[in-house]
Parts: sequence; structure tokens; C-alpha cells
Amino acid sequence: MNDIQVAEILAQYGLATTKSLGQNFLKDSAVLQGIADAAEGDCILEIGAGIGSLTALLCQKAKKAVTIEIDRSLEPLLIEQVPFENHRFLWQDILKCDLQKIAKEEFGGRCTVVGNLPYYITTEILLLLLKNIDCWDEAILMVQQEVAERLFAQKGKEYRAASVWVQGLCDGAILFEVPPHCFHPAPRVRSAVVRLTPQKEHPAPKEFIAFAQAAFAARRKMFASSAAVQGLLHTDKAGLCALLDAANLPQTARAESFSPQDFIRLFQLAQNLGDKI
Ligand code: SAM
Repeated sequence: MNDIQVAEILAQYGLATTKSLGQNFLKDSAVLQGIADAAEGDCILEIGAGIGSLTALLCQKAKKAVTIEIDRSLEPLLIEQVPFENHRFLWQDILKCDLQKIAKEEFGGRCTVVGNLPYYITTEILLLLLKNIDCWDEAILMVQQEVAERLFAQKGKEYRAASVWVQGLCDGAILFEVPPHCFHPAPRVRSAVVRLTPQKEHPAPKEFIAFAQAAFAARRKMFASSAAVQGLLHTDKAGLCALLDAANLPQTARAESFSPQDFIRLFQLAQNLGDKI
């Protein structure tokens, strides 16, 4: 498979990439095909069009595809590069989108999300997707490799609030790694494509995310002493010690020592004990 001539295509339209929008466009055809092949489902919502190389592949396999793109200067190029009747562009900032509304109006409720993400807002996009987890069945996302590793970390230095949100709410895996030379321009970091699938039974996403964020605000302190968690649960240290007892976890434990499953147990117990989250 030949590489996509990204620089030449942009030049034909008098365009160049914009670094501040995270515009590292994929040029490696095998990687583009690998992402398209990984995406299941008839209804696809793409985040970020670039020059439409992935968009075109997605249109060929889906019944309907919609792409959200912020950079309207790409419009003349994209209209010609993506001439598919089953597709439309929404010229919007993904972070200002009402995903529930888009999923309902465009797809009747749910879709598969696909995106070679703009890395400067990876966390914000992940939060948006997780908070609206009932809108999608699967997400195939290109992220920085170190972010991918954090999302699936179980313990240790890489373990973050994001590891807990993602593993608490989704099943998932790193599908394949993508080196810098597969993009134009080449980013400084390595990348990886991940798959996320919402768990059938998962905790209430917004509340669970807030709980994990509060706990990780002082990840090295004793969980029971965390002012953020005490504030969120409207309780005090004794209340959090009782919660830890109920979860069979030591009263002296730190947030970073809890597995995602421990977090789910603590969260559910907090709800069952009648605390407000
Ligand atoms: N899908 C293309 C590809 O694989 O070559 C482009 C990927 S590029 C890494 C990220 C794309 O997201 C760019 O087209 C960029 O303009 C777009 N983008 C950046 N910020 C955005 C935002 N807030 N909302 C929607 N799209 C955004």
C-alpha cells in the first residue's frame, strides 16, 4: 500500500497543518486501514477529519458516518476528498458538542466513536466520552503511547485517575503501536491505537469520575484523610475509615494502592451507605 501524500494534497489547496490543533495527519495506509478494520458497527462518529484519509475508509464500511472537525479551513479540501452520500461533517469543537443530541439525531441513539485524537485535548475528549458512555458501543482511538499505557495501568507510577475511570467504566486494550514516521508532520511522541468498550454493568459515570478525581487529588496521602473525598461524600475521617472497613481495605491505605475494582467497591459502598456523591 502506498503512503498518502499528505503534504502534496495540502499544498494543492494552499493549506498547511496547524500545530496548535494537534494536526499530525496519518499518511501510512496500513495504519489507516488497521484503524478502519478495528471499528465495528454501522454508525460511526469520527473525531477530527484531517485531510479525510480515515474518514473515506470509514464511509466505505459504515452505513452512516459523521465527522466532527473544528478547522473549517479544511472544508474545500474535505468536500472533494470525502464525496460520500452517507457522510456529513459537523464543523464544531468536539468539547462543546452535545454528544447525547448528536448520537440521537444522527444515529438514533448509539454509535462507534473513531478518532486519531488531537493530543492536546486527549484527557478532555476521554472525559467527554466516558461521561456520555451510553451514547457509544465502542471507541477506537489513537492516543500517545504513554497515555495508552496509563489508561490500562493497574498500579505503580503510571497509575492515574484516568486509569481508574477507564478501567472502572470500560473494558479495553492497546491494539497496536504507531511510530512517528506514520504521520505528517511526525510527532515527537510514539502513538498507540486503543479499543474501549463500555462495561455492561458500570457505576454512574459522572459520579464515579468525580470520586476517582477526588481520591487522586492526594494520591500519596491516606485515603481516609483526603479532604477532597470527605467533601465529596459529606463525611469525615471516621466516615471514610468506616467505608474502608466495609470494603475490607486498611484504614491507612492510600488512593494509589487501590485497584480500579477497589474503587468501584468503595464507590458502591459509599452510595449504599447513603452518602451523597
Ligand atoms: N483523522 C485525521 C488523520 O488521521 O489524519 C486527522 C487527525 S489529527 C491528529 C486531529 C484532527 O482533529 C485535526 O483535523 C484537527 O483539526 C482536529 N481537531 C483539533 N481540535 C479539535 C476540536 N476541539 N474539535 C474537533 N476537531 C478538532
